[in-house]
Amino acid sequence: MRETTPVIAAAPVDRPYLLERVGEAAVVQLYADGFRDLALREKTLVWHLAQAAIAGRDIFYDQRYAHNLEMRDTLEAILTHAAEVDRATLAEIERYTKLFWINTGPYNNLTARKFVLACAPADFAAAAHAAARIGARFPLQPGETLDALLARLQPMFFDLAVDPTVTSKNPRAGKDILTASANNLYVGVTLEDLDWFEEKYPLNSRLVKRDGQLIEEVYRVGGRYGAQIAAIVQHLEAAIPYATAAMAAALRALITFYQTGEEVDREAYDIAWVRDKASPVDTINGFVEVYMDARGIKGAWESLVYCVNEEKTSQIRTIAAHAQWFEDHMPWDPKYRKEGVHGVTANAIDIVIETGDSGPMTPVGINLPNDQGIREKYGSKSVSLANVSEAYDRSTLPEFRSEFSWTPEEVERATRWNAFAGELTTNMHEVIGHGSGKVSERLNGNPQTALKEQFSAIEESRADLVALYFLPDRKLVEFGLVPDDVHEEVVLTEYESYTRNALVQLRRVREGTDIEEDHMRNRQMIVHWLMANTAAIDVRTRDGKTYYVMTDPTAFREGVGRLVAEVQRIKGEGDYDAALALFTAYGVHFNPALRDEVVARVDHLQLPSYTGFVMPKLEPVTNTAGEIIDVTISYPLDLTAQMLEYSAATRHLRG
Ligand SMILES: [Zn+2]
Repeated sequence: MRETTPVIAAAPVDRPYLLERVGEAAVVQLYADGFRDLALREKTLVWHLAQAAIAGRDIFYDQRYAHNLEMRDTLEAILTHAAEVDRATLAEIERYTKLFWINTGPYNNLTARKFVLACAPADFAAAAHAAARIGARFPLQPGETLDALLARLQPMFFDLAVDPTVTSKNPRAGKDILTASANNLYVGVTLEDLDWFEEKYPLNSRLVKRDGQLIEEVYRVGGRYGAQIAAIVQHLEAAIPYATAAMAAALRALITFYQTGEEVDREAYDIAWVRDKASPVDTINGFVEVYMDARGIKGAWESLVYCVNEEKTSQIRTIAAHAQWFEDHMPWDPKYRKEGVHGVTANAIDIVIETGDSGPMTPVGINLPNDQGIREKYGSKSVSLANVSEAYDRSTLPEFRSEFSWTPEEVERATRWNAFAGELTTNMHEVIGHGSGKVSERLNGNPQTALKEQFSAIEESRADLVALYFLPDRKLVEFGLVPDDVHEEVVLTEYESYTRNALVQLRRVREGTDIEEDHMRNRQMIVHWLMANTAAIDVRTRDGKTYYVMTDPTAFREGVGRLVAEVQRIKGEGDYDAALALFTAYGVHFNPALRDEVVARVDHLQLPSYTGFVMPKLEPVTNTAGEIIDVTISYPLDLTAQMLEYSAATRHLRG
């Protein structure tokens, strides 16, 4: 599980962070300052792991949309042969392609809805022909002409009504959540088909219905994405000699899982990965998060390579060290409290590269593995992405806070404390939020099956609520997590900003009247539940503008305590009906007029809705014998250059 909403604060800018604005997106450079201080052995390890990250990038493109790679090839062919292309058409193709790269395809990562090219199909065709004339190569099928290719892809590039949503958890009445979702995790399969079908590879397969038969296409060496996975394995093998013993064991287990695809090997890998608690470099590489699947079962491929940021790690480690105290004081039925909490390893990290489901759009916090049974038995690892939070801080505009705050005091508090309060809350969300609680034995450590498409939003709500509940606790001062004299200000800042966010986040849902993304659903649900069930929040208007105003922190916390008890019960019992009712009432629907107001306000101030990151660039330095004697790091400051480079690096794997 992971956290996606950034901490927001202002900081001096002494190197470029915000590189450009593309529509509603910001493009920001990520810096990994700690890399230079690593020993050569660790730098070499990072280099091989980064190669493994790039090798798998196309897997996620294909999982997200069956036409994604052909569309990307077409766009990149034009952009790399643009000399003769009409300037206005080229500007539109560039705008669209940048959003396509940031979102890994034509679907907004937050709203799940499709976006399209805003030029005429004839102008796009003219651009393609102009590129072809100077040597651009297009992804033609055998015997296919360029015009035939463009005609075939025209609905994908231009028609909002064709495959409108990548993940549709609440399709219109009567429609099936799988057939209403445009992702490539299911082909011709409805939810009903799965009633009597037992998946052998729930996380790492695509389900296809062929001649009335359900087939699991397994992601493994020799299976689906076999070439990409074999390349990943090759790079992981090259990395092993440079890893610590514990990390080498985890990498070997991962290789075995990639070779067999078997559930038992995935479990062995999860266990080995959790056991590696002390390595200064670590990686996540595989089919991990399940947000893209409307059922919440299939893992989207991603990779992250990172090193521990020792300086920033002390807060998150302190929370982890006291995990049992928090567990013993959870405001829910004691039967859901875990005894003997073990193995919550927590680190602040600096990302060196993220691909697939984690890049260019990145989470700010991660807690894995997702397997509830392994978490309860072996613990979990939590990371907060320190350099990502820093880059968000440095690239955020101050108007972002002032526009939606009711008083100057609220703005002042947010300016001073938002970064600190946000980081503390994110760390608690990951470590004692996702890390806490246990479920009823009859669920076999697997509440996902019972809660289906509601699971992720319930789990995110639970983690947020735990953090919000403990934030005002005096114990935080005692543990040294927050200074006594500012504690009250920090609580106010976080409660105010959490409340404001339910309004501000509507800017991200520019179309429709439903929210699909799980973190957004959870935040709408919590704030609207508190509005309906406590006196903590006022809705006010001034000069035709709406404000969500947090007026009573005591009532806020009391409400959070009541709500988390219910949310934990829902998870603990797998109470699907209660989860559905909760999100239907408070989390999914919103007033489109209010959204239009929010969009107008952020557009007037030119505030971005989401951010794509440009990763650092690594280059090995070799001696005459071909051995790596150094790895340099640099910062490209250019999304287009980096995306073209990544695409070129793996094209040969697609055969
Ligand atoms: Zn989370």
